[in-house]
This record gives sequence, structure tokens and C-alpha cells, in this order.
Amino acid sequence: MSITFEQVTKRYNAGPVVNDVSLRIGPGEFFVLLGPSGSGKSTLLRLAAGLTEVHHGRISLHGRDVTHVRARDRGVGLVFQHYALFRHMTVGQNVEFALRVRGVRRSARARRREELLQLVALEGYGNRMPDQLSGGQQQRVAVARALAHEPQVLLLDEPFGALDAKIRVELRETIREVQRRLGMTTILVTHDQEEAFSLADRIGIMHNGRLLETGRPESLYRHPATRFVATFLGAANLFLGERGPSGLRLGKRFIASGTSLRAVKGDPSGDHEVVTVVRPEDIEVSEHDEQLDSGALGAGQVLSVDFNGASERLRVQLEPEWDVTSAIGREHRAVGGTAPTGEQQIVDITRTSAEQARLALKPGLRVALGIRRFHLLPTPIASFRLLATAPATVAALRSSPLLRQLVESMQAPVLDAQDAPTGSEREGIQAGVGVIAAGSHSIGEIARAAAQGRRWLLCIPPRAALPARILIQCDYEAARSSTLRLVASVMRHLSAEATFVSLQSPAAPRAEATSAFRRLLDARAELQEIHGLDIRTDVHIGDPASWAAQLAVTAQPALVVLGVESTPSDLERILSSDFGALFSDVSTSVVLLSYTESQAQLAGVRLDTMSPLFPAQTPQGAAAAAPAAVPVLPGTPA
Ligand code: ADP
Ligand code: MG
Repeated sequence: MSITFEQVTKRYNAGPVVNDVSLRIGPGEFFVLLGPSGSGKSTLLRLAAGLTEVHHGRISLHGRDVTHVRARDRGVGLVFQHYALFRHMTVGQNVEFALRVRGVRRSARARRREELLQLVALEGYGNRMPDQLSGGQQQRVAVARALAHEPQVLLLDEPFGALDAKIRVELRETIREVQRRLGMTTILVTHDQEEAFSLADRIGIMHNGRLLETGRPESLYRHPATRFVATFLGAANLFLGERGPSGLRLGKRFIASGTSLRAVKGDPSGDHEVVTVVRPEDIEVSEHDEQLDSGALGAGQVLSVDFNGASERLRVQLEPEWDVTSAIGREHRAVGGTAPTGEQQIVDITRTSAEQARLALKPGLRVALGIRRFHLLPTPIASFRLLATAPATVAALRSSPLLRQLVESMQAPVLDAQDAPTGSEREGIQAGVGVIAAGSHSIGEIARAAAQGRRWLLCIPPRAALPARILIQCDYEAARSSTLRLVASVMRHLSAEATFVSLQSPAAPRAEATSAFRRLLDARAELQEIHGLDIRTDVHIGDPASWAAQLAVTAQPALVVLGVESTPSDLERILSSDFGALFSDVSTSVVLLSYTESQAQLAGVRLDTMSPLFPAQTPQGAAAAAPAAVPVLPGTPA
């Protein structure tokens, strides 16, 4: 029996609590829904059980559409956190209950009752009352009761929630064994990552009503696609890195050579700022740099050492001179433990007992850290960089509803021009998304930033509201892939509807009209294939300037994404003549520019005017700094 959710949405007054969830669970699969409290897990389970109505979408069990079938006719067994046994009935009567209401004969009921009690290891307990049993035993009765009518689907909502640690582990084993023996398709809801790892064939992570990522426990742990999943599934260190032809650099150090890095899907050039995930067990500790077997990150002081049985947990504060920066916004870093001081980076490390035996550590010691293994998130938006310097402008940008929403959902850092790491503003590297204030001066600022190698710029008018729609305009073939990557990332974090718009002059010949449609189809196909997202499309008859003028004063707040390919010197002219209104003092639309430098121009100037990515180091030096043995995980999620 399989379970299928197709674009399932459930709203309460405040909005969707289950938002466009599509999911297919295979026959006999043990699927765990994991997420923080309030993320919509129980609601999704209740929708599957038929305990609450869907507002949109379809649910099927083994190919049968049950969207509008009553709960008791769906053939599902349910177990909740609070055992909810009938207090006035014996254990045996509780187990038989579902059979009695279905009119099953007494002798058949008795046989089934004994089988089920045996299955959950409670033979001989049939005549006890529920309050004569421990919490764990009561929950086993609840499982037996849920299985009485031989459901083909078992739904469990935090069934171990109210039990103590040892009993939880025992009951977990009972449930896993019963589930395997009966081959039942099962969904279990939990907020406990360890529980999810120990039970699941596959895990789905929910956040804010959305199913963010699904996958086998190990692949989600090793290759998460988002900051949220990376940090929710166990501890993780997230650093801002720069990838370029010479390799991956974190702060001052290279930790992998260029050839060992695989390309990120949909990003042919791949030279830009990236989010690097390093698990605590993948960090090596030694007394000195020279003793490290893996790529050196830097050195710092041990802040704390916590022994917890099999392993030891260390926290090390990296010295600021290594220039290592967190890829998680300050407001999202885990509380508890030591709070980060300023922008100094604290690194979480776990060591096995063998590692502890080789080098004993205590707070205050200085150690060198190396990185054995890392994973690059596919997100194109590693950070936001405020390019403004006037304090009032910086404060206004930081508090704009759009930037706050994006940062809150992505957990991305917003760095002021002055606290950006010193190395990241080099020419030729794309460090995050530059953020500037819109207004008549902004086109000149954009042109200057583009000339310095910035590809992505977010231009926010002073009073811009949270956009209710996203409009994407990109009539340049060469700019499309990079624009769509940016769009895909933004779409995941805004609930606005997105439309790809092709502009067409009323006087255009037929051939041009055809190519406008082709562009739309190509863009939509690319977004679906590479990024798994769907988008609307629209042809707008009129010139760009009139389209922009209309959007500048629209009553329905919009985020306008412009994909432009040009030379740096042409960019200013194109933006002023085609889209000038969007940058005027009266515009209320936010503009996100994805700029691609023309190849012709690049070919002409690359050698003399564009500095290499990391001028301080020659490629040979870089290769020498990166040990050949670093195992590198691909930057693309499974
Ligand atoms: P989880 O199980 O992940 O903790 P829930 O599915 O219980 O989350 O709830 C998701 C959101 O929906 C919460 O914000 C919760 O307050 C809201 N919610 C759940 N049930 C109702 C209801 N019957 N009426 C209104 N809001 C509800
Ligand atoms: Mg719940």
C-alpha cells in the first residue's frame, strides 16, 4: 500500500499550515516526518487519516483517491502521543474495540486479541486495566489496538513523546519490528532527529508548512540542500567560502583544489561565494598546522570540552586573523553554549575516544583545525552584502520587509560593507547578493558594482512592502541560467506567485513573436528540470520602458527580477533606457538584478584587467596548500 499526496494544502485562519505538499511513499516504507514544533507535521498526518479536510490537492492510498473518504473507511491505524486508551475497559477490550464496532464475532475477536498482545509482547496482560500498566506498556496497547482491524497504513504521531528515554528505545524497536513483519506503509511524526535517524527508511523535513527536502537519512545528513536542513539534522558548522579556478577558500586558507570541486547544477561558471557545511566529526584537531592530515582551516583557543560517553564535544574559537565567517545570520545561530563574540567564528567539533587518546585537550589550549570533508550547498545566495554606508540607509535596508523575510527563511547572514571579510571584495568574485537603496542614484551604483564583478544586486526602495508577486524579465539567452538559479532560490523563501514575462514590441515581425514564446517555454522547462519549481508565463506587448513605468507605480507590490547580459559600460545605458522607471525615486517595486558580463568583452579584457580570483596566491601555491587527499562532496543535492 502506497500513500500519495498531490499538492496538498490546508489553511487555518492565519494562512496555510500545510502548503503545496507533494509526496509519494512506497509500499512498506517507513517514512518519518521531521520538523520543529508548529511546522505542520500533525496536520499532514491528520489529513492522511481523514481527521481533517484538505482545502486543495489529492490524497490517495494505493491508487485509490481517499481525499473525500471518511476516516474509518480509509483503512488506516492511528497512534497518538497520549495513549488515549479507554480507561473503563480492560487491555483486551481496548485491543478488540475496532473489531467489535465492525461486528466481528466473539471467537474471531479473541483469537486476534491474543495474536496482537503477543505481537507487542504483552501476553497475559489482557485482563488488566490501563492504569495498572506503565506508560510504555500502555503505548504498546495503543499500537496493538491500532493494528486490530489490519490496516494497511499505520500513522503514528509522536508516539514516544510522553515516555522516558529507555522505554522509548524499547518501544521504537517494537514498532519497527511489527512494521517490518506486517510490511505496513508507515508515517511517523517526530521532532526528534535521533528518533528519525533510527527508524526511517526515508525522512521528510517540514518547515513553515512546506516539505523542504526528502531523502534517506544519510544522504540528507551528508548532502543537504538548504541551511535549514543542514542545521536541523545534527550539528553543523556553516562557513562562507569562495570557490574559484584555484579551489575552495575559507577565510585565508584553501581547503580543496579547483579540479576536485564539481560544478553546481545550473551554474556553469561556479566562481562565487558558497556555503560550506562541515560536520563536527569532520574536523581534525592537532597541536600544530604541520601535523594535520587534512586541509588546514586555522587555529584557535579551546573554549569548552564536554565528555559524553563515546565521544567528546569541543568548542573552539577561531582567531579572527583567519578571516573565517559564519554562513548563518547572527540571529539564527544556536543559542546555548557560548555566544559568538562579534564576528569571531566558533567551531563545533566531536572527537572519538581514539582521537582523545592521541591528544588530550582542555579549555584555554591553542589548537590547529583541519577539514577532512565538506559539502557545498547549491544555494546561489550565500550572504547579503549591504553596499550602502550611511547609517540611516543601512538601517532602512536591514528593516525592509523583503530582506527580513528572505533572511529569516534562509537563515542567511546580512553583512555590512565594513564587516565583510577583507578578502571577499576582490574583483571578479561574486560575494553574495549586493543590497542597495533604490532611487535616482542607484543605476550609477549598480554599474560601478557590476564593473567590480558583482553579478547579483538587490535594489530596495525606502517604503517597499513585502512583494505579493515576482515578475521575471530576461530576454538575454546568455543571462538565463544564472537568473533562474537566483529566482529559484528566492521563490523557495517567499510565498509570492512567480511569472516569467517576455516583452514584445507591437510592431515586431512574426519571427520575433515566435522567439518570445520560445524563450518562455525554455525558461519554464529549465526551472522545472534543474530547480524542481513551476512558474507562470506571460507575453507583454509593449516596450520595456512602458512595462517598467507601469510596474514602478503598481498598487500590488512586486519583486522584479531582471536578467541582463551586457558589457559593464553598456549596463548603465540599458538600465536607464529600458528600466529607468523602476529605479526612480517614486518606484515601489523591488528590483533584483542578475547581471551577466558579455563574453566578447570578457575575452578581450580577461587577461589584463581582471585579476585572478585570489591574487595573493599563484595556482601552484593553491594546489600545494590543498592536500590531494581531501574527499570532496559534490555541491548538488541528491
Ligand atoms: P506540528 O505537528 O508540526 O507541531 P501542527 O500540524 O500541529 O504542527 O500545527 C501547524 C500549525 O497549524 C500551528 O501553527 C498550529 O497552531 C496550527 N493549527 C493546527 N491545528 C489547528 C486548528 N485546528 N485550528 C487552527 N490552527 C491550527
Ligand atoms: Mg504535532
